[in-house]
Amino acid sequence: MKENIHPEYKPVKIVCACGNVIETGSTKEDIHVEICSKCHPFFTGKQKLVDTGGRVDRFKRRFGMENEGK
Ligand SMILES: [Zn+2]
Repeated sequence: MKENIHPEYKPVKIVCACGNVIETGSTKEDIHVEICSKCHPFFTGKQKLVDTGGRVDRFKRRFGMENEGK
């Protein structure tokens, strides 16, 4: 079985647990996530959303502060 030397970048859909569907491009098949830009507006274009809670917390804090500031 040959490896994909040149992965094809094709349109796929990110299906969120909330029911939202985002069309994007990826070398992989359709992606299923637990949170999306609809659930969390601070996510924009990220495909791998749920990996490290620390990173999410950082985003939350950062954007939360910005929102409160304005
Ligand atoms: Zn969602």
